[in-house]
Formats: sequence, structure tokens, C-alpha cells
Amino acid sequence: MTEIAFTKSNTLGIMPPEEQLGFGKYFTDHMFTMDYDPENGWHNPAVIPYNEYSVLPAAMVFHYGQAIFEGMKAFRTEDDRIIVFRTKDYLARFNRSADALCIPNIDIDVVTEGLKKVIEVDKAWVPTKVGTALYIRPFIIATDPYVGVKVSDTYKLFILLSPVGAYYAAGFNPVSIKVEDKYVRATLGGLGEAKTPANYAMSLRAQEEAKKEGFAQVLWLDAVERKYIEEVGTMNIFFKINGELITPDLVGSILGGMTRRTVLELAKAWGVKVSERRISVEEVFAAHEKGQLEEVFGTGTAAVISPVGELSWKGKKITINQNQTGDFAKKLFDTVTDIQYGKVEDTFGWVD
Ligand code: PMP
Repeated sequence: MTEIAFTKSNTLGIMPPEEQLGFGKYFTDHMFTMDYDPENGWHNPAVIPYNEYSVLPAAMVFHYGQAIFEGMKAFRTEDDRIIVFRTKDYLARFNRSADALCIPNIDIDVVTEGLKKVIEVDKAWVPTKVGTALYIRPFIIATDPYVGVKVSDTYKLFILLSPVGAYYAAGFNPVSIKVEDKYVRATLGGLGEAKTPANYAMSLRAQEEAKKEGFAQVLWLDAVERKYIEEVGTMNIFFKINGELITPDLVGSILGGMTRRTVLELAKAWGVKVSERRISVEEVFAAHEKGQLEEVFGTGTAAVISPVGELSWKGKKITINQNQTGDFAKKLFDTVTDIQYGKVEDTFGWVD
């Protein structure tokens, strides 16, 4: 057990009605923090009031983007327990992102304890309605006050908690996607498989242009040939073609999603044929032509499953499954959320 300091907030906030929560707008009363310096390593684990944090404007994170983050969720069960989905797996990814950004690894057990403690302190903020959750945002920033390009010597870790509303409050509806052939999200040998702000900065312009054109998101292609499919917006992507479930393999430019892994593990357990391999847009459009493209959906922590109803590529548009949510997407969504809300036994050992 690690000694985690606790300073209680003098002012306690009030959670807005659950219908008004939306995503990522409200934060709980407390946060978990830790510091890093070369002499002490990661130290000072503490649960403190969520408040302004002061840092010098020269802090390296502002200049060269040396930072990483995670996005995970806790849920309130019907019998009023609070459970977190795949904590250790998300924090292991946090450390892989740390490696990519030359940030010192965290001790997953210590950070898990800190996370448990801050959730316990702020448990009144975990919403109750089906579809709602407590979104968990761990992140690390480089804090050396220095404006030359180098790896920082000092860092700060935070874990913020944010109650979020039901993603599908308006129904589980398929979205329209633009196949992006001008901008790219990530390159081989770059940072694509890390959760670091640079990848999100890189994605903004394409997303804005797609939105203006009436699309919900973009489908990212590989940076070299603009041929192979990588991800959809900030989600991984799956295709069900002729009974087979196909998702791009993790070549280095794709984020290895936890929901992606969860879906692969479930599909394999159900005996579905699963392939992680390169898949081109041409192959998807050809499968549609042959009547074999059964379903397309994105996977991510926020939405779990997001069905794709239309794909537009170079002026051609295809409609998938009559723009309806497919049975397989629905079954996956129901199974994952039943496990997350503790409604069924977690035979995979995903919640704790
Ligand atoms: N790709 C990107 C770029 C993302 O930001 C996310 C969200 N973390 C995902 C995929 C899906 O990952 P996960 O299932 O772990 O949320």
C-alpha cells in the first residue's frame, strides 16, 4: 500500500441533472496528482481539490507538446457498486505512450490505488442512469521551465474525473463518414500508436472540413499510399464482410484501442472468424458492390460501438446495411455495456 495524501476540498460542487451532463464538461471535487523528478522518481501521490494549477509559462509542455493522456471509465452498478473497466490495460497503454514520448513510466499499482482513492472520495459524482459513466482522464505533462527542444527532466501527473451523460441519448444511429484522402492522422515511425496531443492536433483540420461538408467523422488512410484504412475519427474501425470480422492490424500508426481489443476478444469467444490485417478502401467498396459488406462500425471508450451508415470516397457514396444499426454491432454494444454495468458476470476479468 502506498501512502496517498488527502486534502479535502472546502467547497463541494453539485452535479448537474444527468440529462445535462454531455461529455467532458464537468469535473468532480478532487483530482489525483503525482510529481516526477530524476532524484525522487514518481513521488508525492495525493488526492487534492480540483482547482487551478500554476505552472511557469516556460513549461516545456506548452512549447513542444511532451504530454500523454488516457481515457477510461467507471460505472455505477444497479446494486450501487462502482466498477472500472480494464484499469490495468489502460494504464499499460499509458506507459506505452510514455515510452513513445520519452516520459518515465508510472507504477501501475500506485496509480491504480490513487485512482481508486479519488473515485472513492468523489463517488457521489458517478451518475446512475443507464448509459452514463464517470470518465477518467489521466495525463502527464512536461514541466521543466525551458524553451530549448529536449526531453524534460520533471513531470506532473493528474487524474481528473468527469461525469458524462449517455452517449446515445438520441438513439443508436449510424453516422456518415468521409474517407479522407488529403490529410493524414499519423505516419509509420511517428506517434500514431501513442495517446499524445500531437495526434489530435494533427486531426483537427480534417475533422473541421469534413463537418462543414456534412460528415460526422473522417476515415483515416495510411500516409504513404492513401490506400489502406487506419481509423475512424478517434475510434478504431471494424468491417463485417461475408461473415468475417476484419480490423486493420496495429502497424504502428494506429492506436491500439481497448474497445478494439475487447471486441476482438468477444468475437473470438463467440466463434466469429476474426482478422487483423491491412484492408484497403477499394476492398471495402468492392465488397459492397458484391453485396458482402454487412456492417461497419467504430469502437472507442466514449461510444463503445458507433455504427457507420454511409462511406463517401472520391465522390462515390455507399450505404451500409440500409443505414441501420447492424445486429452484430448491437450485440457487441449490449454485451460490453452489460459487463460494464455489472449486469452479467464478467467472465473475462475486465472490471475491478
Ligand atoms: N483511436 C484513437 C485515435 C482514439 O483517440 C481512441 C480513443 N481512445 C481510439 C482509437 C479508441 O480507443 P479506446 O477503445 O481505447 O477508447
